[in-house]
Amino acid sequence: MVALPPSASLTVDAIYAAYEAAADHGYREHLGASLIGTECERALWYSFRWATRARHTGRLLRLFDTGHLAEARFVADLRRIGVTVLDLDPATGRQWNLRDASGHFGGSMDAVAIGFPEAPKAWHVCEFKTHSAKSFAKLKAEGVASSKPLHWAQMQAYMQLADLDRAFYLAVCKDTDELYQERIRHDAEAGLRILAKAERIIAAARPPARISEDPAWWQCRFCDHHAVCHGGAVPERHCRSCLHATPVADGAWHCARHPCVLLRRDQQAGCGLHLYIPNLIAAEQIDAGEDWVSYRLPDGSPWRDGATPIPDTQERADAA
Ligand code: SF4
Ligand code: SF4
Repeated sequence: MVALPPSASLTVDAIYAAYEAAADHGYREHLGASLIGTECERALWYSFRWATRARHTGRLLRLFDTGHLAEARFVADLRRIGVTVLDLDPATGRQWNLRDASGHFGGSMDAVAIGFPEAPKAWHVCEFKTHSAKSFAKLKAEGVASSKPLHWAQMQAYMQLADLDRAFYLAVCKDTDELYQERIRHDAEAGLRILAKAERIIAAARPPARISEDPAWWQCRFCDHHAVCHGGAVPERHCRSCLHATPVADGAWHCARHPCVLLRRDQQAGCGLHLYIPNLIAAEQIDAGEDWVSYRLPDGSPWRDGATPIPDTQERADAA
């Protein structure tokens, strides 16, 4: 085989690598308002239970950072025309952090603001977004609710949680720097539906129904959890994939086996008594005892969780 030539972009590679090295663990602490508009509740449950670790390339991480950097410019633009913008929560001096009653659902608002020329006396939730030219054209043609339903649901969630009646969506086209604005009214019914959806997902001990049983369904093809949901992939061992863990009040997690409250770092580490939530294993559960659950794998071979790691397909073939 001919050896590949060394990369011609060592500096760029190093920059991307630095982003990757600084990236977080790829698991989100809470059920995020930015995703709650996702139609498939199973996908949201998988995210909440850390079924798939998010791994992004350095280039993509830098792109996310570009979006964050744009927020300061949006704030400066609004202040320049006399809008009062609170990008930090005056009570904490930190980013606005909204949570529902359980503490497990919410997100970070970009800002709240008052003094917009269209409605000078109303406080607004602010959401700032950057768009590609194609996405921006669709946004202008159809509006937020139709072209970006996840953004619309995110703002409804924030208005519901912040008890505000209006949101201001300010977007920029990354290619031309053209701006787009839209004021969004609070839809109380939608807000309550969103909170109820979040509550259902948080309380669910097992994955909700699939949006489609067809792995080639368009939403499934773009889903981060496709491999776990349709492909039989097994999530990593951590407390969120363990049948002993339950989300409890104030955004905390509890282990029934030890029993104790689980700190974030404990949840990531898990422990030797981890047992998978049976619905995360693509196999038939046949028996269970203290600290073990046994399964029949799709090829008919038995596997006992709690005693051995799940064998991969090749190992099973070798053993047959
Ligand atoms: S693969 Fe499809 S059914 Fe499964 S979680 Fe994703 S969107 Fe839902
Ligand atoms: S048994 Fe271990 S892995 Fe399971 S929830 Fe408790 S601490 Fe986490």
